[in-house]
Amino acid sequence: MKTRVFSGMQPSGNLHIGNFLGALKNWVRIQPDYECIFCIVDLHAVTVYQDPAALRAKIAEIAALYLAAGIDPKASSIMIQSAVPAHAELAWMLTCVTPVGWLERMTQYKAKAGKQESVGDGLLQYPVLMAADIMLYQAGIVPVGEDQAQHLELTRDIAERFNSLYGDTFVVPGTSLPAVGARVMGLDDPTQKMSKSATGAGHAVALLDAPDRIRKTIMRATTDSSPAVDFETAGPGVMNLLTIYQAFSATTDEAMKRQFTGMRYGDLKKQVAEMVIAHLEPFQQRYRQIVSDQGYLAGVLREGAARVAPIANETVRLVKERMGLYT
Ligand code: ATP
Ligand code: MG
Repeated sequence: MKTRVFSGMQPSGNLHIGNFLGALKNWVRIQPDYECIFCIVDLHAVTVYQDPAALRAKIAEIAALYLAAGIDPKASSIMIQSAVPAHAELAWMLTCVTPVGWLERMTQYKAKAGKQESVGDGLLQYPVLMAADIMLYQAGIVPVGEDQAQHLELTRDIAERFNSLYGDTFVVPGTSLPAVGARVMGLDDPTQKMSKSATGAGHAVALLDAPDRIRKTIMRATTDSSPAVDFETAGPGVMNLLTIYQAFSATTDEAMKRQFTGMRYGDLKKQVAEMVIAHLEPFQQRYRQIVSDQGYLAGVLREGAARVAPIANETVRLVKERMGLYT
């Protein structure tokens, strides 16, 4: 039997090249070797307020982006988190074995809570729901970007704690990070990771941005005070641009050094922009084709949820039995 893989994206904004290089590209790469479930985690998105109509539209958009990237709905299941109620049910049971202190330590909680006037409890519980998503399917591998590594560690702690309290129940999942592009930084501020929920105009390249806009965003990216690329001394902005080029082009470290050492930043940016556009243009064409058939898209999502629901329901049944709850 193939090891199961689970991963997801929040429909909380426009998917960007960080989401692609950190996660989506890796999903497509490992898809043939595993039994994969790729989720649109809408219950996670509502941990901060989302406009209902915009959220509904984003869910369909993200499903189409998964397909455009090369997720094959025959081989992998694409599903919406809230279509399978077991996610929320297991999250409650796991909440009851998770110390609050573990959650308060999470970097993402501290960063996102700091931006809210009033902090919803969902923001604190976020990693428990994420643990439930993964453990519900007994996933062995979770391909994510580097920012989610801490939540994966927490997932393992929760799984181990449950197993020690109630007997061996859950697979303890491993984390899979890409070698290059695991943490793409903001183009306006290379000390912050690129995020969907960040608002600055020059912050991110979205997967659906037009070529002109991509050029503009990359040409305006923050670099440093040196005139040209020096791999020994380059600041985070220059390193970020080099990483983006390398991740899209799959260039080796040695070839990167040969190609870019001594290059002026303006020329570096031009080359990065053209590399990104060359990859995103065919991707956007596929996307436009897919969204033109909403009936097909709805069918993919319905089928995905129907395929995975029995796995999820069986886990909840087992957990209830272990905990002494009604089955
Ligand atoms: P939000 O700001 O709403 O949290 P996000 O950009 O962080 O949005 P998520 O939906 O939270 O996106 O994450 C989806 C996937 O993309 C996760 O696997 C995450 O690790 C990965 N990811 C997010 N940002 C980056 C980034 N800057 N570089 C690499 N991977 C990333
Ligand atoms: Mg995030």
